[in-house]
Amino acid sequence: MSELSTKDIKFLSGVGPKKAELLKKELEISSFEDMLYYFPYRYIDRSKYYQIREITSASSYIQIKGKIIRMEQQGEMRKQRLSALFSDGVGTIELVWFKGVKFALEKYKVGEEYVVFGKPGVFNGKLNMVHPEMETVNEALSKQSLGGLQGLYNTTERMKSGFLNSKAIRKIVMSVIKSIGSYKMPETLPAYLLQKYNLLNLHESLMNIHFPQNPEMLRRAEYRLKLEELFYIQLNILRTVKIRSQRFKGFGFENIGHYFNTFYREFLPFDLTEAQKRVIREIRADVGSGKQMNRLLQGDVGSGKTLVALMVMLIALDNGFQACLMAPTEILATQHADSITTMLNGLGVNVSLLTGSTKKTERAGLFERLATGEIQILIGTHALLEDNVKFANLGMVVIDEQHRFGVAQRARLWSKNTQPPHVLVMTATPIPRTLAMTLYGDLDVSVIDRLPPGRKPVQTYHQFDNKRVGLYDFIKKQIAQGRQVYVVYPLIQESEKMDYHNLEEGYNHLQEIFPPAEYSISMVHGKMKPSEKEEQMQRFVSGQTQILIATTVIEVGVNVPNASVMVIESAERFGLSQLHQLRGRVGRGADQSYCVLITSPKLSNESRQRMEIMVRTNDGFEISEADLRMRGPGDLEGTQQSGIPFNLKIANLATDGQVLQLARQIAMEVLDEDPGLTVEKNFVLNKQLNCLARNPVNWGVIS
Ligand code: ADP
Ligand code: MG
Repeated sequence: MSELSTKDIKFLSGVGPKKAELLKKELEISSFEDMLYYFPYRYIDRSKYYQIREITSASSYIQIKGKIIRMEQQGEMRKQRLSALFSDGVGTIELVWFKGVKFALEKYKVGEEYVVFGKPGVFNGKLNMVHPEMETVNEALSKQSLGGLQGLYNTTERMKSGFLNSKAIRKIVMSVIKSIGSYKMPETLPAYLLQKYNLLNLHESLMNIHFPQNPEMLRRAEYRLKLEELFYIQLNILRTVKIRSQRFKGFGFENIGHYFNTFYREFLPFDLTEAQKRVIREIRADVGSGKQMNRLLQGDVGSGKTLVALMVMLIALDNGFQACLMAPTEILATQHADSITTMLNGLGVNVSLLTGSTKKTERAGLFERLATGEIQILIGTHALLEDNVKFANLGMVVIDEQHRFGVAQRARLWSKNTQPPHVLVMTATPIPRTLAMTLYGDLDVSVIDRLPPGRKPVQTYHQFDNKRVGLYDFIKKQIAQGRQVYVVYPLIQESEKMDYHNLEEGYNHLQEIFPPAEYSISMVHGKMKPSEKEEQMQRFVSGQTQILIATTVIEVGVNVPNASVMVIESAERFGLSQLHQLRGRVGRGADQSYCVLITSPKLSNESRQRMEIMVRTNDGFEISEADLRMRGPGDLEGTQQSGIPFNLKIANLATDGQVLQLARQIAMEVLDEDPGLTVEKNFVLNKQLNCLARNPVNWGVIS
């Protein structure tokens, strides 16, 4: 942090208390330093002029040169509008002002030559540009020395109405730079790193990010600032990992014994896939190493993560430890308990289930058997985190579908033994590599990249909601062949009533098409008591009902291999990863399965793209990459609870994968050489990390 962090921009000429307050409120900018760290979001080349004829409504910010042919003031008092017809000698475009009409009318003259800059649009079939930036040609020429590249700054609606548009921000940044004069921003990276990686120094980077000397300098400035931003995040994460591994030893699971071997040889109903074998090897190496394992297991829906988890828990048992498996919902926990109990039947392992609805009377006994070590595997929901859940000797924790758990919860499981157990986190949705490196940067990663053999990829179709007839015939045919069908409605968070209404309407509608005399339907929604839900689910799982209609993703997080059709209503309301999750509920058996995405015919571009991606690919990794590109990391599941500042200032996890990779590598090199950052050349790193630590981010809780 430099002394510029204490200089208030309020006192800068041209800012004043009003604008200062807006900047503070809208962007949390108050000091010179804050302002210098507010970067343009893109640049336009102001040395290039467009022909008006070349412009389309899709053109972005552009610059044209020409004259105003005529000006016309329209409307009354408050609804005034100024229109100017602008020509470059060949084509014309309308320039429009709704605000500052009087000012513009006085300032701009018919016949004078102007450079006009702005974003073109179309109104009533004609090209226009609203509130353009205007300069006389002479003014514009005097600025050509700035390399032609001009930064554009994001501003909010409130800022715009307070006359703080991109141009105004640019002016303020310019005044900051002028007023600091020859002062140089103190360097925030060690000199040896700047040299080794050929990085621009901080001062020049900041100058060039706002006012690029030329495209090359802009590129170098961006590169340095991105690398630095990602580097400090990685340094922080990896230092935490170092400290943790120095402080804690892991339980050494040296034995592969009776439970694992007997299960593998005699109980396993199928061969493990190569990917499953590899992951089990990776985990065995980890838990045998004397270090405490913190591993993320990524694998697409249906790739067989549960089986891996089970075998890993058996290793814990072979070494005299207990294991637990935590799932995000009661239905999932129950299903895990059922399938694991079935798979282990005859092996003599004591498995128990603990959820929110486990009865008080049962609990006492369960806690006791847990404390004596009689229960070897405990499966459950968040209930496992409660303080009175005490193990005799917990050695392995598996967390399923991690994105529903906060990091703090992950950390709480640690305290269940004197020494932290090994932790295996399984994600239901693949996470792009870049995001995983940040969100789970403290974990080692294993990937199951192949589905078990014999699966046919789910076929996906997109249909508009006014064309359903064919769909119902299709469903009837599937049911006639003995298959089962899911119909899912979105959870409308703003209104639970509406949500239920939707579902109920859907239910009534479906009952008309699938009359109760011939078909039976289960319905599950969030308002039901767990026991009711359970009963409805069970009827579907056992095949008594052919159709399950449900509101949320959570309720259908189940395994019914006989289900072959997944219908998703109002699919445009779901995110890509949710859609992919839902689709993963079918295609679990050997039969061809189908997913039908139903949307309104009126779709935003983004929704249309989402549907196209779903139809095109079944690859969860590809889908998660697309999700990251389209929505940005801040909106992806799991990032909000993570506590990691995903609204990065300049780096972009969707596009800066390589920079991130390098940032992580540099952080590792630095820490390998100097784990405590105590060598003099690294003092600046320590100082910066301490600055970051003053942010509310609590890195320590990331287990
Ligand atoms: P995930 O949790 O990764 O979504 P599951 O563990 O629920 O996937 O596995 C999906 C289905 O695949 C289960 O019915 C499981 O029994 C089955 N399965 C797992 N591994 C294999 C394998 N190697 N060969 C065949 N089927 C498998
Ligand atoms: Mg699973």
